[in-house]
Amino acid sequence: MVFDVIIVGAGAAGLGAAHHARSRGLKYKTIEAASRIGGRAVTVELATGQPFDLGCHWLQGGGRNPFYDFVGAEIRLGPLIQGHALWRRGHLTDEAQSQALDVAFDALSALHLEHQRRSAETPSIDEPSIRKALSGGHDFEEDYFRLLTHECAAEPELVSISDPAGVNFGGDDIPVLSGYGRVIEKAAGPIDITLDCPVTKIDLSGADILVETPQGTLRTRHVILTVSTAVLAKEHISFGASGLPNWKLSAIEGIPTGSSTKVGLQFAKGTLERIGFARSSFAGPVRLVIVEREDTSNGSWHLGTGDGDLCTCYIGGKFSRELAAAGKPAQVAWAKDDLAKVLGSDAIGAIVAAETTPFDTVETLGGGYSYLRVGYPNARDDLERPIQDRLYFAGEACGGIDATTAHGAWNSGVRAIDQIHSLQS
Ligand SMILES: Cc1cc2nc3c(=O)[nH]c(=O)nc-3n(C[C@H](O)[C@H](O)[C@H](O)COP(=O)(O)OP(=O)(O)OC[C@H]3O[C@@H](n4cnc5c(N)ncnc54)[C@H](O)[C@@H]3O)c2cc1C
Repeated sequence: MVFDVIIVGAGAAGLGAAHHARSRGLKYKTIEAASRIGGRAVTVELATGQPFDLGCHWLQGGGRNPFYDFVGAEIRLGPLIQGHALWRRGHLTDEAQSQALDVAFDALSALHLEHQRRSAETPSIDEPSIRKALSGGHDFEEDYFRLLTHECAAEPELVSISDPAGVNFGGDDIPVLSGYGRVIEKAAGPIDITLDCPVTKIDLSGADILVETPQGTLRTRHVILTVSTAVLAKEHISFGASGLPNWKLSAIEGIPTGSSTKVGLQFAKGTLERIGFARSSFAGPVRLVIVEREDTSNGSWHLGTGDGDLCTCYIGGKFSRELAAAGKPAQVAWAKDDLAKVLGSDAIGAIVAAETTPFDTVETLGGGYSYLRVGYPNARDDLERPIQDRLYFAGEACGGIDATTAHGAWNSGVRAIDQIHSLQS
């Protein structure tokens, strides 16, 4: 049997492609290396029953996000983050100072967006990094850069100002209390999928493409490859004697998979209220920025999310990579120490469950999400460009305004199927 399309990977991009292939009536198969679907979109349950997303959690992109259509009555969406609290020189700053931070961050985001739009209009190899473009003695700019290190999964001195990641999501960020991973799984519906089956070789040399796996070789007219750029760079998948063309290798080099991890600490019910961090004090969950850190850490916290007593730390870049490599106990221990500065060690004793993002150390994922390196202005578009109209690429690293996001990944899978379908008809 010869398939119309074989989809490699069942993360958001692969599931989007499979869902669309099915509705277009294509003869397709999805092959996934892991024992589960979802890739970097996965919801686990903490010991307390609290859902926790190891990867994507926030519905972003406003009207461009197709997952809104799949949020039914059983999926709970959370309240929006209500501004910033600021921890400085051993104290929580007052409301006026927190508002000053909000104003400064809004101004920096606006400036960032303006620079990003301008350089995206005329892509140039000389485009500066985010840090270079935005440094200018602005209030709180170092704190903004620390937050971006998580948003971009890399230090702002490494990331091109033209990259939409971190600034261009559009619309509100809406937390999915029931778990974004569950929404994506639901959106995929009943698709044909083979698990525990890593693709090892894609051979384009014959009339049909041969896709090699430990379970046998499949024949197909088209392939959509959705693995991360970390997996591509490690060359776990071979492309035969000729390999991938240089322009594709250059695109992969230009969009490395950075590190973005989370540590979730669940407190016993009522703890945050007891110590004065209840929703009632802030009218909603709060983003806590610990400023003037004395080390290279960059975590920022969301307090009082989930069902009220979950605190999640967002970490990025080199520090995140090192902490993830040290393993879950080290990630949790660091996070507890960090939060103890603010909440006190008594409160830390009330933690009843903890979870961390493991993706950096998972061979088939290789990190958080991609960032655009300085000097590779067209890399995202080049990654998405098919080879011989037969080998297609999709995933969060591909082009488009929604690069790095779950819905961007899904949409890239849909785009690839549309192109293949138009060739078939
Ligand atoms: C901490 C964190 C927070 C995030 N927060 C958000 C957020 O709030 N909102 C948002 O929109 N996005 C967020 N993201 C990003 C989002 O999770 C990703 O962009 C998206 O899930 C990536 O999907 P993908 O399909 O491109 O890649 P993946 O999910 O990596 O899917 C690729 C699949 O390919 C499989 N694979 C690898 N090698 C092989 C092989 N040889 N053969 C077969 N299969 C293979 C992998 O196992 C994987 O399942 C976050 C990510 C992280 C890490």
